[in-house]
Amino acid sequence: MNDFAVNSKKNEQKKSLYDFTIDDLPLAKNAPKFRRKQLANWLYEKAAQDFNAMTNLGADWRQELSENYIINPFKKIESFPSADDSVRYLFTLEDGLQTEAVYMPYKSRKTVCLSSMVGCPAGCAFCATGALGFGRNLSQAEIVGQIMAIAFAEKIQPKEIRNVVLMGMGEALLNYDNAVSAIRLMINPDALDMSARRITLSTVGLPKQIKKLAKEGLPLVLAISLHAPDDLTRKEIIPTANAHPVSEIIESLYDWQRLINRRMTIEYVMLAGINDAEWQAEALAMVLSKLKTVHVNLIPFNSWGKSSFKSSDKHAIRKFKKVLEQNRMEVSVRFSRGQDAGAACGQLALTQS
Ligand code: SF4
Repeated sequence: MNDFAVNSKKNEQKKSLYDFTIDDLPLAKNAPKFRRKQLANWLYEKAAQDFNAMTNLGADWRQELSENYIINPFKKIESFPSADDSVRYLFTLEDGLQTEAVYMPYKSRKTVCLSSMVGCPAGCAFCATGALGFGRNLSQAEIVGQIMAIAFAEKIQPKEIRNVVLMGMGEALLNYDNAVSAIRLMINPDALDMSARRITLSTVGLPKQIKKLAKEGLPLVLAISLHAPDDLTRKEIIPTANAHPVSEIIESLYDWQRLINRRMTIEYVMLAGINDAEWQAEALAMVLSKLKTVHVNLIPFNSWGKSSFKSSDKHAIRKFKKVLEQNRMEVSVRFSRGQDAGAACGQLALTQS
């Protein structure tokens, strides 16, 4: 598609510079530490893809960098635009596996939805990514590289992308170290200088990892894919519910709010006849009443290939919303972008069209 996408065969064994923290970027022998900031500036501010362009680094250092490292961690990048201006990106990694991201330009902001894995081990029954199974975790470079590649392809500065949602392929908290180090690079003033408050991390609800994340002290927006207020329904659609009852998840969210003190969102995909009954709306309000500042997103189900699930109809969604509002919950209905390009929530499935 463009220069960003071309990595030659001999590059397969080299590490991407996006895999380093700024403090660990490789320096030339005896070079002062401030030179790392110059290299970081080329990588993240100028989005350079060619070591030769980094003219203030000195010829020897540039030579050393190009012999030992790569910048872009992808072998191939394809894009699939949607009629609503969002664009789905399909990345082929160095080992031939693939993952996806979605670019969503709005009037007031540019948002990217990133993946943390190839496929996903969580296996949620309604999700196209879950149906693919698990490939592998993405590295820090492969997570941050999605932002850089999208900025390059969209011909915008990487720093114009101010909103990130880790809601693409994968359960980010099962790739904990790489997801957190990628976030730290996004918010580093010498890298992408984003605000942690504009980064949303989505999880299916893993109590131990949520408590660990709370201790990192990052003021992220946490999005919990709850999708049912009771364990019986949850187990029907989310395999991890067998190990983690709703009560344990709520307890970990309580911990999160105590330490991070930020609003969180509860994601709730509306599945006809499964989780959209009035009693489930009452139960959801009851379960969430123990938490403060929670926003519920009701998401009409986006159908895909072999899925037998159906979205709740408008009437059922309206009724569900009303019950939550009567219980003083903040709630909105969120329609996903990019449905015609297979880019909507729960649709990411590595399709080639
Ligand atoms: S909904 Fe999220 S956690 Fe569940 S299978 Fe899909 S990508 Fe994985």
